[in-house]
Amino acid sequence: MNFRYKLMRFMSGRNGIDTVFYMLFGVAFVLFVVNLFARTIFVQLLIDAVMIYALFRVLSRNLEARRRENQKVLGALYRFKKYCNTKKQRANDKTHVYKKCPRCHSVLRLPRRKGKHTTVCPKCKNEFKVYVFKA
Ligand SMILES: [Zn+2]
Repeated sequence: MNFRYKLMRFMSGRNGIDTVFYMLFGVAFVLFVVNLFARTIFVQLLIDAVMIYALFRVLSRNLEARRRENQKVLGALYRFKKYCNTKKQRANDKTHVYKKCPRCHSVLRLPRRKGKHTTVCPKCKNEFKVYVFKA
């Protein structure tokens, strides 16, 4: 029996490498780079703890718990990407400004006209002042 077959048998029924593993590996790498300059035992222990946890997750047989953790991380990543895309899209919009209604917190897309304006929220009918500094 060759090594590859033995490894396959050993890893069957185990979690293996997933998104959380890559994230933990990335965190450990960043800490490693920080530790190149900081050179403290605390950071080294943190790196060891992160890598031991990553290894524990790879070898874990509790697939349901690992899947749930992975889904949480993927959900957070998705929300973060969506947030960044929305920010980028709004920054690139040259013809509109985005303002939050102070009462219901819904985002209003208003025409970009320099100066002080009064607007009415279409959701809660709240009237409030809007300042646009750059046209
Ligand atoms: Zn409102």
